[in-house]
Amino acid sequence: MNQRTHTWLAIRAIALLEDSNGPKGLIKILKDNVKGAAIGSWIPDLQDSKKGSGDIDNHVFKMKPYEGSNKFRFIKKRKALFDELGQERKVCEFLDDWDSVLGAAWWNKAYKAYPNPGQHLANRSMALTTTLIDQLILGDKKVAALVPGTVRFSGNLDDNARSRAEEVATYCFMLSHFVADSNQPCHCDARLLSGYSNGLHKEMEADWSRTVGTYFDKRKYLKNNETPNKILDEARAIDAKFDIQFSNHVPDLQAKDPWLEIVNICRASFAVASVLVPPGSISYKSKKKTSFEKIFESADSDPELLIDLNRMVMHDAVLNIAILWKNLWSKFS
Ligand SMILES: [Zn+2]
Repeated sequence: MNQRTHTWLAIRAIALLEDSNGPKGLIKILKDNVKGAAIGSWIPDLQDSKKGSGDIDNHVFKMKPYEGSNKFRFIKKRKALFDELGQERKVCEFLDDWDSVLGAAWWNKAYKAYPNPGQHLANRSMALTTTLIDQLILGDKKVAALVPGTVRFSGNLDDNARSRAEEVATYCFMLSHFVADSNQPCHCDARLLSGYSNGLHKEMEADWSRTVGTYFDKRKYLKNNETPNKILDEARAIDAKFDIQFSNHVPDLQAKDPWLEIVNICRASFAVASVLVPPGSISYKSKKKTSFEKIFESADSDPELLIDLNRMVMHDAVLNIAILWKNLWSKFS
């Protein structure tokens, strides 16, 4: 996803937490820093910040059929996946409406992803979640006043060693990046046709950022002097462009931990990629590419498909960010 889409998704997730009566302390930390910390939502894609992963690439969980031992570990049947994803995400509805090609044979197969550690969406999300919980435990006086409960040893810490709200908010925005990326179908599909420069992927993201518009564009946003309330309202106003209606309810994490939650989201995104370009039409070893036009503008494609895809991906990305953020705070209540 492009910078302005990442920024909008994260800020929209703050508004969703607010509209769903989410944790007040968390909302305050995020909202007070919505201008300064929002850069965190696009930092993971900046070249210098990728040094930690030892490679310059996107954040991915690109799956393909797995033929090794212990296959059962890499099979998640449709019903089990849908149950684990819960009722509130739109991706299951999308698959119910549009999947007429995958069938039981596809769902009963083993699939595995092989991302490098620094690019691994579930690893990055889990690592940041754990770090953020520690940051909240070690927060400075301002943060400690917002986090429920008392940390008895925090008074013994050097004041400079304690985390500031600005820091916590920036890392929350970074977490939003990895959560959002797990909703991009091409990030979860190992076929060459899902590669960034092979048409579909880049065009899909360009389409999203065209719809988001320029308000959250880096240059413009960094100069933004508006109040956090106004910024959140601008984020809410973009719902209409994607025809999204939020239920204003943020469920708890559905899986046992953020790692598994993200893997499940990626599995659903992989199924979406496989619906857009059915595996029967192109093998996993094929070097054939495909274009955005070919999928969404071909004579026999239903124009509702693209509208529904965009609505579903954006809705779920916002909701998933809110779920992962809320989960951090649940450790303290
Ligand atoms: Zn990324």
